[in-house]
Amino acid sequence: MDKNIPICDFCGVQDNEKNPVISGDKSSICKVCAKSAYDIIVGHQNDESDTLVKMDKSNNVQVKKEQKILTPKELKAILDEYVIGQDKAKKVLSVAVYNHYKRVFQSSAHKDDTELTKANVLLIGPTGSGKTLLAQTIAKYLDVPFAIADATSLTEARYVGDDVENIVTRLIQAADGDVKKAETGIIFIDEVDKVARMSENRSITRDVSGEGVQKALLKIIEGSSINVPPKGGRKHPNGEAISIDTTNILFICGGAFDGLKDIISKREGGNTLGFNQDKKTKKEQEGLIESVEADDIMKYGLIPELIGRLHMITTLQEIDEEAMIHILTEPKNALTKQYKKLFSMDNVNLKFDKASLKEVASKAVLRKTGARGLRAILEDVMLDVMYELPEYSNKTVTITKDVINKTKKPKVA
Ligand code: ADP
Repeated sequence: MDKNIPICDFCGVQDNEKNPVISGDKSSICKVCAKSAYDIIVGHQNDESDTLVKMDKSNNVQVKKEQKILTPKELKAILDEYVIGQDKAKKVLSVAVYNHYKRVFQSSAHKDDTELTKANVLLIGPTGSGKTLLAQTIAKYLDVPFAIADATSLTEARYVGDDVENIVTRLIQAADGDVKKAETGIIFIDEVDKVARMSENRSITRDVSGEGVQKALLKIIEGSSINVPPKGGRKHPNGEAISIDTTNILFICGGAFDGLKDIISKREGGNTLGFNQDKKTKKEQEGLIESVEADDIMKYGLIPELIGRLHMITTLQEIDEEAMIHILTEPKNALTKQYKKLFSMDNVNLKFDKASLKEVASKAVLRKTGARGLRAILEDVMLDVMYELPEYSNKTVTITKDVINKTKKPKVA
């Protein structure tokens, strides 16, 4: 470590462009710690001067303005702008986040012995159905630190891979080093089904350390004070560590849980993978996953303690062709809208005819990667069109089914 670079006496961070350290004669403080100190002092003053309920000059009762918490309906309306369908998951998430904030920002007036326990969420749905998108959209609008972790990269301490604690480090980094802010953040753990232990029902070979990872995850999800490495990476026995309380961090876990339908079907008296299952229409199979119970997930291989901490379990639908078309055109940042904007910068009016959208959608369904496939398909096609974009200035360019199949050039008028 370079001795000439100032170090914050409070958190130990080195002077850097993003978080400069100011040095006095005897001590130093970084921008993040200085801000935390300011917030504590100013926040404290406000608490003293602003009672919860007070009278104004004309003796009307005024209630102190508290942090504005969006209602579940308002939250769902935000999700609706970006995520197509998945109404059930949207409702569950909106309520979970609403309750999360009530807990985090509960005013002193409501503080009593009744502790509001946190309700973490488990999203079960096929890949590319919007699990990450839902969590990301919520985090963006709430302006809270948000971190994504992939459970497949996690291993127990001492093994090769990512320590579970590093997820929390990432959240602190997302909060620009502000531990207090990170303590109210949201962590999305994707592919949580991949750390399921092997169960007798399933023949898929699993990482034997799966159960160990689940136990490590449980420790941070259930809420406790833990020490995390400040910069990620492996924990060092004598290394510096940041202490953080995970009690108020909301965890959203997601996973595809392939094969879960068989377990549910068996429980409901059906025949796994047998004729009955084959005879079931796609709709019936979709319905099956909706009737998932905690027990089924336990049979799948998640430990009961972990399931017990994921209070709200909800499912997402597979994205069908019709939903793909909606995804292409409707969300605020829909792909076709983005291309239209790009083209308009070159004074080109871009249009996608109906058949072209249907073609992209049906190709994406075939890829079996959910709506994730849409971007790759469209990018490939649009690359050729954009190559010639400057030549289309002041014209209208229409993308047809043939353009998607790369058999013709777009119509230019
Ligand atoms: P996963 O369910 O695997 O977490 P993602 O949320 O990462 O899937 O989805 C991948 C991409 O597909 C998203 O970035 C988004 O562009 C698109 N997408 C998936 N589902 C939806 C949806 N329901 N509405 C709108 N876009 C979606």
